[in-house]
Amino acid sequence: MSLLRPLKAAEIVARTIVGDIQSSGLSPGTSLPSEAAMLEQYGVSRESLREGLRLLEVQGMITIRRGPGGGPIVGAVDAAHLGRVSALFYNMAGATYEELFEAWVWAESELAERAARNPDGELRAARMESFLCEHDGGDETLGSYLEEHAGFHRAVAELAGNRVLAFSLQTYGQIVTHHVAVLDDPRNLRGVLIDDHLHIARAVCNGRPRRARELMQTHLGGVVDYCRSRLAVPLDSPIEWL
Ligand SMILES: [Zn+2]
Repeated sequence: MSLLRPLKAAEIVARTIVGDIQSSGLSPGTSLPSEAAMLEQYGVSRESLREGLRLLEVQGMITIRRGPGGGPIVGAVDAAHLGRVSALFYNMAGATYEELFEAWVWAESELAERAARNPDGELRAARMESFLCEHDGGDETLGSYLEEHAGFHRAVAELAGNRVLAFSLQTYGQIVTHHVAVLDDPRNLRGVLIDDHLHIARAVCNGRPRRARELMQTHLGGVVDYCRSRLAVPLDSPIEWL
């Protein structure tokens, strides 16, 4: 295998589409041109174009609405997609849930410490603001709960000040969340988690890296214990590719 093999037509068209999305500054949710327009624009066969779009769809960079009025739409640059792709690698390598949990706790603690070290105090305060008050769960749905939980960890990651680290280190949590949401209703954890977030947010906001790291470690330690007790498979079994 070589990383330097020549690209296939579909890969070339996929790269060109990505380049066009970036140079036109198209935001997530924007429709891309119709198939007919793209065939003309890129001068490739219908097969290559479809394969190229499918490559981007698999990686979550676009979504394709099927049927009449459908077509490709720009997707979000989201660590969840990277998580899904990497889960396949972990699965094939035989990596276990125990290893995933360990990586997750380390990664999020690292991000929390870095977030608290972010030199821009105003930015830290602005990003943590909405997590600094007590929440009552009310009648939130599973979806909104997961979104809120992920939103906190994303805000911490973004404050870490390095996009490569922010993306790669968020993938473990994305995989865990995805798997746990399938296993069980994580809203059962709500009381514990929301309080934890509040304390971590305070440490990040106040620029206390060691404390942020320790609190994040404890927070995820609790989540990991919860996941361990509910995982339908042994902890030493390979991570499934969902
Ligand atoms: Zn959390």
